[in-house]
Amino acid sequence: MPRFALSIYSNTMAEEKGLNFLEEIVEKDLKSGKYQQIVTRFPPEPNGYLHLGHAKSICLNFGLAKDYNGKTNLRFDDTNPVTEETEYVENIKYDVRWLGFEWAEELYASDYFDQLYQLAHKLIAKGLAYVDDSTSEEIAIQKGTPTKAGTNSPYRDRTIEENTKLFQEMKEGKYKDGAKVLRAKIDMSHANMLMRDPLLYRIKHATHHRTGDKWCIYPMYDFAHGQSDAIEGVTHSICTLEFVPHRDLYNWLIDKLEIYPSRQYEFARLNMTYTMMSKRKLLQLVNEKYVKGWDDPRMPTISAMRRRGFTPESIRDFCDRIGVAKRDNLIDFGLLEFCVRDHLNKIALRRMVVLDPLKVVITNYDKGEELLPSENNPEDESAGSRDLPFSNILYIEKEDFMENPPKKYFRLAPGGMVRLKSAYIIQCEEVIKDDKGEVTELRCVYFPESKSGSDNSGLSVKGVIHWVSAQHAVPAEVRLYDRLFNTADLGSIEDEFTNHLNPDSLTIQNGFAEPAMREAKPEDRFQFMRTGYFCLDTDSTNEKLVFNRTVTLRDMWAKTQGKG
Ligand code: ATP
Ligand code: MG
Repeated sequence: MPRFALSIYSNTMAEEKGLNFLEEIVEKDLKSGKYQQIVTRFPPEPNGYLHLGHAKSICLNFGLAKDYNGKTNLRFDDTNPVTEETEYVENIKYDVRWLGFEWAEELYASDYFDQLYQLAHKLIAKGLAYVDDSTSEEIAIQKGTPTKAGTNSPYRDRTIEENTKLFQEMKEGKYKDGAKVLRAKIDMSHANMLMRDPLLYRIKHATHHRTGDKWCIYPMYDFAHGQSDAIEGVTHSICTLEFVPHRDLYNWLIDKLEIYPSRQYEFARLNMTYTMMSKRKLLQLVNEKYVKGWDDPRMPTISAMRRRGFTPESIRDFCDRIGVAKRDNLIDFGLLEFCVRDHLNKIALRRMVVLDPLKVVITNYDKGEELLPSENNPEDESAGSRDLPFSNILYIEKEDFMENPPKKYFRLAPGGMVRLKSAYIIQCEEVIKDDKGEVTELRCVYFPESKSGSDNSGLSVKGVIHWVSAQHAVPAEVRLYDRLFNTADLGSIEDEFTNHLNPDSLTIQNGFAEPAMREAKPEDRFQFMRTGYFCLDTDSTNEKLVFNRTVTLRDMWAKTQGKG
């Protein structure tokens, strides 16, 4: 639904149109002529891989610009030399494109280091910034508390000339890390603690991933973000709620520096149940080997979701459905799963794969083999059909047989009948066990008249199960994923978050897939009939296919929780 800024819309009509608060602001700003075109930016710090929270921010920033004919820059917020790497930059670009968005310009805050340095001198020249020799502990004490005013630094009244000279010397590398900082000169008793002479620059003798050793002073977030926004002419700088207290400083700096008046707007960050979205903590999971890497399919990163088989469409749909909130909340992970199921149901090719095989011998089948047509996707006729080979030795799912079934058990039991999907009705005549009493094989008969599509056997069976022909089947490792954590609200825990990891988040099964799966490619999406949605994993080789379960067919998890 395209939303254009039409002058006939009043505020109440904005509500009727179901606009979120940011769309209302943008419509108002376009309508009043404040801007001809809106400019947004997505500003990741390249210190990790993007996660679902970033996907929300991407959909919001790029989505707004798309809906209102504006533009969005991809700006790497790379002002911290020690945590940033080029590897992250490349992956972030890949993820944004994969989600379906294209930026107007690829920019780096580090490209503005010269301009930012000049802006700092401008502030000094206006008597609004000073070089402070206090230690970080002394500065912390000077700050006071929310209920107690701070105190002025003994270096606060240095002259403009002295500050200019010292700041230049800081840049030239005359001082050690931490020896001096540049601070804004605002008000040490300001109600907003961030306005109590905040740090603007610090000394850090470190190699930067792009500027190398050119700089040994680096701007703080507050002296980089808003200034970069202004340099780029960003109209709406959208960030998460924790930056609300920074807004005063954002505006103060823009005002005093007399630069382009970008404006900051805040929305609630995305938090989801049973997972956690903080690059720092995700990095810890990787480093401490709780997961196999940033793209381990249990991780909430975009790269992990891609590997696991989530589609960009389903992630965008999810971001759309959760909307834009002004207050922190916790979104049910089940909603994302709902979105991916909904999309995969439409596009996934149906395939038969037995995850936990039990051998079935059909004693009266003497045709050798035959090919049975089966639809690729009942939701999409254009997906066509394929031929499934059938023969006298099959595998079925172990759990589709019960020796002593309860009433109303419609799958296979001794003497009972079941339909093999797209094939025949079979009846179990004999159960073979090993020394331990474990069922190893079923001997069955089939009814030639009961062939799917031309059944005139007169038999009526309720259960339909999937199967594969043993001699044609392809061995497949199947990786089943569950929640990474056992605790729904990780934001409220007091102990170490790794204590809450779910030890059963990965189960590996070795099954058999129908032969068509030999041609599977990583971007293909499958519904393994009756077991879930799957995709080929990048660990797959010609010798061994490996599949990831993207999501179960139904919300199995909610059900088991309900029982407990
Ligand atoms: P993290 O805490 O995971 O490191 P961050 O906010 O430091 O996240 P950045 O790379 O600085 O990560 O974020 C880039 C953009 O994505 C910012 O505008 C940020 O507000 C937004 N963002 C990050 N996490 C979330 C989230 N959970 N929900 C919505 N937006 C987010
Ligand atoms: Mg950040």
